[in-house]
Amino acid sequence: MQYPAVEVNLKRLDTNARYILRECRRREIEPTAVTKVVSAHPELVRCLHAAGFRSMADSRLANLRSLAQHAPGVQRGLLRLPMPSRARETVELAQLSLNSEVETLKALDGAAGDLGGRHGVVIMVDVGDLREGVWPDEIEDMGNALQNLSHLDVVGVGTNLACYGGVIPDEENMARLLRARSVLQGVLGRRIPMVSGGNSANWSMLEAGEVPGEVNNLRLGEIIFLGNESMYRRPIAGMHQDVFTLCAEVLEVKVKPSMPLGETGQDAFGQTPQFEDHGDRLRAIVGVGRADVEPDGLQPEDPGIHILGASSDHLILDVESAEERPAVGDVLRFTVRGYSALLYLFMSRYVEKSMIRELP
Ligand SMILES: *Cc1c(COP(=O)(O)O)cnc(C)c1O
Repeated sequence: MQYPAVEVNLKRLDTNARYILRECRRREIEPTAVTKVVSAHPELVRCLHAAGFRSMADSRLANLRSLAQHAPGVQRGLLRLPMPSRARETVELAQLSLNSEVETLKALDGAAGDLGGRHGVVIMVDVGDLREGVWPDEIEDMGNALQNLSHLDVVGVGTNLACYGGVIPDEENMARLLRARSVLQGVLGRRIPMVSGGNSANWSMLEAGEVPGEVNNLRLGEIIFLGNESMYRRPIAGMHQDVFTLCAEVLEVKVKPSMPLGETGQDAFGQTPQFEDHGDRLRAIVGVGRADVEPDGLQPEDPGIHILGASSDHLILDVESAEERPAVGDVLRFTVRGYSALLYLFMSRYVEKSMIRELP
């Protein structure tokens, strides 16, 4: 194996995927697996497909291509609002997309017409988080505009919470989504089958039985891969929080003082670091850095190892209390617990992806 590498335990991912499918389906929710955090990696997509997901979504067209190839037959959705300049590819690659702009809907309608097909749209409603979505008092206008777009099917309404504004999903904002759906159904004179109530931040609400019965879809990424809901990052019992392990090679081991020598200014990333004097400490450097991972999202497997900081390509560790004193050339392991950490690892072509299939 080449380092740095991220090890994926497919058995644990399978367990997580099946847990989510079971918990959702017994509440009559058909979940969509969101694959952007792993760049729709072929092996992971196949694992989710085999576990039984019938709907998958991603924010990038290139990743939708991977879904088409590795999870044939699943419904594919584009999560990020479509780019008008890529309306045609959107219609070609996705059966549905999330939308909030009439101009874009017109472009999708035109593309669907040109291709001799149809395209499903989920109208996003902003119920307070201030990311994407139509403001509730503009739903009626949106409905009127949609009536002229004959190659589009309005398959759902959706919302996204806890993303930009950090707004907690609750009964009030869910009710706002359902009201928007009624208004839209009234204008269109048709039933809108899907109500997509949110993401991994809705999980506590689901567990508490507080998701309204009309909600029949959630778009879930973080909880499947990391085994935690995303409002408070609470681990879910029965799920694995250690699907992903980062392995990095030790490049230097030396005793050094815990305070830098000389006057200090900004570090490589424009931050002014603070130090506490703990005397001389044994430190190690491993060959991975901020270019490939967000260090805050890593948890060393050895509880005696602490992450001190990182530059682009070096992660600096305090190994004074390590269970085993690391040597140059050793490989240290870190559980990937953070969403950004996972996102960057899969986006980086410098990080090897290694699949573990057997039982742990
Ligand atoms: C990323 C994304 C999701 C999934 O969010 P998680 O927190 O990973 O569950 C859902 N909906 C949209 C629109 C997204 O962009």
